[in-house]
Amino acid sequence: MSKSVAVIGAGPVGLAAAAHLLERGLEPMVLEAGPAVGHAIREWSHVRLFSPWEYAVDQAAARLLEPTGWNSPDPHAYPSGGELVERYLEPLATRTVLADHIHTSARVTGISRVGFDKVKTKGRAEAPFELRYRNGAGDKTIRADAVIDASGTWFAPNPAGASGLPAIGEGEASTRIAYGMPDVFGRERNRYAGKRIAVLGAGHSAVGTLIDLAMLAQSAPGTEIIWLIRGEDPAKSFGGGANDKLVERGALGTRLARLVAEGVIKVETNFRVTHINETAARLRIGAGSSCCGREAITDELIVATGFRPELGFLSELRLALDPALECPPALAPLIDPNMHSCGTVRPHGALELAQPEPGFYFAGMKSYGRAPTFLMLTGYEQVRSIAAELAGDVEAARRVELVLPETGVCNGPGTTQDAGCCGGPAKADASACCAADETAKKAGASGCGCS
Ligand SMILES: Cc1cc2nc3c(=O)[nH]c(=O)nc-3n(C[C@H](O)[C@H](O)[C@H](O)COP(=O)(O)OP(=O)(O)OC[C@H]3O[C@@H](n4cnc5c(N)ncnc54)[C@H](O)[C@@H]3O)c2cc1C
Repeated sequence: MSKSVAVIGAGPVGLAAAAHLLERGLEPMVLEAGPAVGHAIREWSHVRLFSPWEYAVDQAAARLLEPTGWNSPDPHAYPSGGELVERYLEPLATRTVLADHIHTSARVTGISRVGFDKVKTKGRAEAPFELRYRNGAGDKTIRADAVIDASGTWFAPNPAGASGLPAIGEGEASTRIAYGMPDVFGRERNRYAGKRIAVLGAGHSAVGTLIDLAMLAQSAPGTEIIWLIRGEDPAKSFGGGANDKLVERGALGTRLARLVAEGVIKVETNFRVTHINETAARLRIGAGSSCCGREAITDELIVATGFRPELGFLSELRLALDPALECPPALAPLIDPNMHSCGTVRPHGALELAQPEPGFYFAGMKSYGRAPTFLMLTGYEQVRSIAAELAGDVEAARRVELVLPETGVCNGPGTTQDAGCCGGPAKADASACCAADETAKKAGASGCGCS
């Protein structure tokens, strides 16, 4: 009998995992909490991707789709989240053999090994996994020889509070707070038009929302935008501009820089939210002590401070996670934003993603834990490698088959920005962000070569 592999989550990476597993003669079972595939992406269906179709389609998935007469999209065009679901994930899940392997409305609530609690060791590695999941008909159990957790992080956004805990009053003021990337220019236009809105955060989601609000302000007089950042330099969010190999990713930062320079977006730096009150139909967003700190008074707050992995349902498994990022430890030095911000991560796979619990792997957005800048393409390479490993093809599992587009940003310690990202840009085909980084990586070093 072929090995069974449970895949948690039917996002782009979970479905790609299933496609690779099938190609390898393994038996995938995809469990998806939402009523349809791409459940998380449907929540940001209005957002245009900064990477084109050629970086959004997995190769094994494409091989499954081709014989179905799939109308493959222009590789150089940029899909919205909605188009990604409609033109790629849905046909993949309904028109190919994958359809027989996907269970929707099936939320995984716990994983263990049959007959083994976390403490028991002898014989553990040979015991199959037991996955508990919940659907409309109550609690169910399935068994699997291996598990790939590709459940993403979208449904666990970070709070507004700068300490990582919710700000005092954040829960009580929830009717005026949104998390992630609300559709401010479309579905939620009425909520935001003509209002004073604060956006908290400095990553891609914050940047995208600020640009959408600026478009809203053009047609809705009275719309005011305040950008709250915890750091002191808004330029850190402007990205690599023309140096970014993903043109649209670079353009986002350039557009934001212009809107800030023109005064369309007002910036409050060093703003570390501690408390939020709702009084007289307005939000008082406070940074510092409630008596004498700073305040921003707004109608709405959009919190775009990143995401964190949901680890509760994994508590019966033996996991090793980086203490800061909550990602597999071997991955941490490649993606730690404290060390560098290259955004260009060396391809990695089964080896780096392995856990003390043999047969259990993280993949996709969740494999990055709390770190930002995950690319779908990275996830596709991860699951190609994991499927090869599970099929016993160790050579293919270790082979690196991916060159990621560099961001053109590198501000790790020791970087001389004036010298053009620590010594000039890396070669076009290198998986490094700059010359020094490329040299370091060739020598087998990890982390950013600039530091
Ligand atoms: C707004 C936004 C824009 C982005 N733009 C780009 C881009 O342009 N290019 C790029 O390469 N990347 C982009 N990314 C990053 C990343 O590639 C995407 O988030 C991508 O969707 C990650 O795929 P995934 O399969 O890992 O996770 P997800 O797409 O989040 O899928 C995870 C799935 O798991 C399900 N799930 C969660 N918990 C459970 C559970 N307990 N049981 C069962 N199922 C569960 C969810 O419902 C969901 O369907 C973007 C991310 C965001 C948020």
